[in-house]
Amino acid sequence: MRSNLAGPRLLLRRLREVMAEPITAQERLDKIVVLIAANVVAEVCSVYILRADGVLELYATEGLNREAVHRASLRVGQGLVGLIAAEARPLNLPNARAHPSFAYLPETGEDAYNSFLGVPILRAGRTLGVLVVQNQSHRTYLEDEVEALQTTAMVIAEMVAAGELEAIAQKDTGLDLSRPIHAMGVGLAEGVGLGHVVLHEPRVVVTNLIAEDTEAEKHRLDAAINRLRLSIDDLLASGDMAAAGEHREVLEAYRMFAYDRGWIRKIEEAIRNGLTAEAAVEKVQSDMRARLLRQTDPYLRERLHDLDDLANRLIRELMGREHGSETGELPKDAIIVARNMGAAELLDYGRDRIRGLLLEEGGPTSHVTIVGRALGIPLVGQVDDIVSLADAGDAIIIDGETGEVHLRPAQDVQNAYAEKVRFRARRQAQYRRLRNKPSVTKDGVEVSLQMNAGLLVDLPHLAEAGAAGVGLFRTELQFMVASSFPRLKEQQAQYTQVLDAAAGKPVTFRSLDIGGDKVLPYLRSIQEENPAMGWRALRLGLDRPGLLRTQIRALLRAAAGRDLKLMFPMVAEVDEFLKARSLVEKELKHLRRHGHDVPETIRLGVMIEVPSLLFQLDELLQHVDFVSVGSNDLFQFMFAVDRGNTRVSDRFDPLGLGFLRALKRLLDAANRAHVPVTLCGELAGRPLEAMALVGIGFRDLSMSPSSLGPVKAMIRSLDAGRLAARLLPRLEPGHQDKNIRDFLVRFAEEMDVVL
Ligand code: PEP
Ligand code: MG
Repeated sequence: MRSNLAGPRLLLRRLREVMAEPITAQERLDKIVVLIAANVVAEVCSVYILRADGVLELYATEGLNREAVHRASLRVGQGLVGLIAAEARPLNLPNARAHPSFAYLPETGEDAYNSFLGVPILRAGRTLGVLVVQNQSHRTYLEDEVEALQTTAMVIAEMVAAGELEAIAQKDTGLDLSRPIHAMGVGLAEGVGLGHVVLHEPRVVVTNLIAEDTEAEKHRLDAAINRLRLSIDDLLASGDMAAAGEHREVLEAYRMFAYDRGWIRKIEEAIRNGLTAEAAVEKVQSDMRARLLRQTDPYLRERLHDLDDLANRLIRELMGREHGSETGELPKDAIIVARNMGAAELLDYGRDRIRGLLLEEGGPTSHVTIVGRALGIPLVGQVDDIVSLADAGDAIIIDGETGEVHLRPAQDVQNAYAEKVRFRARRQAQYRRLRNKPSVTKDGVEVSLQMNAGLLVDLPHLAEAGAAGVGLFRTELQFMVASSFPRLKEQQAQYTQVLDAAAGKPVTFRSLDIGGDKVLPYLRSIQEENPAMGWRALRLGLDRPGLLRTQIRALLRAAAGRDLKLMFPMVAEVDEFLKARSLVEKELKHLRRHGHDVPETIRLGVMIEVPSLLFQLDELLQHVDFVSVGSNDLFQFMFAVDRGNTRVSDRFDPLGLGFLRALKRLLDAANRAHVPVTLCGELAGRPLEAMALVGIGFRDLSMSPSSLGPVKAMIRSLDAGRLAARLLPRLEPGHQDKNIRDFLVRFAEEMDVVL
């Protein structure tokens, strides 16, 4: 038994000597295969390395025909070697030829061998090659031998990762580790980011693989596991999950793994085979990843993330590093790559050095997206597995418009994008020149362009982009990035700063729109079947009047002596507005009674987001000072398409008859009642859509700051009268041409409208 276990340890010790020798990479590989063959008592040992073109090339062999080195090759999925690479798991066969995947490579002269053991060469779950031993006899290799081969494969993986093998590559295709990857995600915040990968949670690179003293490594592991268990138990017991940014469910999963005997036994086995404790954790994790990455079950994939996190924590414990991102200097062109992150974490990076953000998760309305947009950071989300495919420092390009990602891009791709960036910069410069030009159409129609905001970082855009005011201030963002409920004083301070920064330009605050997908970590949320239609926004505010009254008080105080514009989201019935208004009146009375200054003027409005309001316009318009169309929600509810679900969100066209007619009727009703009306959904920020809105009669639009330039350029090149004359008849019943979008595109082309 002892000699059996000493085998792999001895092999690793020899390998360490070989790694330290000042020889070429080819000589090193040649020596390694000889050592392995001798140790496993095999007649053949071969190393196949995965090239960027998906071909596994024979890089070294002991026992097969040496002439075949760098000549013999198999595609991934082809032959036994290809199968191991494709499935990332070992293959142990007493009679290789009987296997259906067997493919004979005549140049290698392998016909004499019957038994076959192959293991993938893995690093962070990625397959970099395959390591094989073969014997003439029909034998099944022992568990220990499989383990030993997997362990030595790690050493070869390090050689690949360190770039040593690139030097002896015969073809200029390069190795798989440097393979350019083109992935498609979802563009969440526009702009092109060119730069280098910074992993939000850097993988700890274990370079010290081979142990000096196995017993000592075992003790280190025991101690680190104890510390890990204690830290998780502490977190669970403290109940302060929000501060650590984690959820109870995830921590429970961590705890389950941290006490899992099977996991720990596998790590101990790798240590017995001669690895250091940290290398053993990495090896076990790499095997697990390789297997689970091929899983399509979302539950199992989620558990893989948990297990990854836990293994990383354990490696950090062993190497004495803190949890969380490294504090090292960010490169000047950082593209942050993460599974997901909170809005506050993004803010922590500081805007200056970030060129982009790339997430495996992330949705169009997630908090980090909203903050990313506010900061003007190109953002792409929903790119599977990108964290494990990317290495820190890799060149990367992300396109926040199309959702494209190019990891380690080829030179021609880099050139094309550099051109795209220059083009965008030129366009931005043109927009900046428009900043102080009036937003008036060619035929003299004034269209007021305001901007949407939600954080203080947004406000410099007001002057930079030349907005007429803030048409929508999403107050919930302050609540979403905070770690506990902002108190009255904090809210008041924020609103004061907003009004100061606006320097007299109007600001339309919107009362808290939380609930649904906008969860506050510190507010216990209830599980809802349909959160978007659930207990959110004003519904929550009216049921918890203390919360809403605090916000109203903060707003009234901040606007003392100035103008206050406040609107309420998700109103479905006139009565809800009346109740909200009476809260404002109560607060006003309270402030006056206590001798506080109050705003000079107060205007209260409603967001038109729930279709039911469209049928109560006459009543509603008698009471409100203004209305603002939240077209994101109004469209979602009118067409019953979840705005965050990319499968259906593009299914229907807001420029179709149904939606445009509804908007037109709303406009007509508001005009008749002399109530000002704005539109502040994403629709307003897209030039063609904004053109349609102007065509049906909107004269006030609010949009994200980056859209102000393009929309103003459109307006200044438009003849609004002509457009209306041709567009409005198309909204009448019985008009022949039903495709309004096509008509708008044609009109813009004919009339040279800048889109
Ligand atoms: C809307 O629904 O159109 C809107 C502007 O509000 P939000 O996007 O914040 O829901
Ligand atoms: Mg809304």
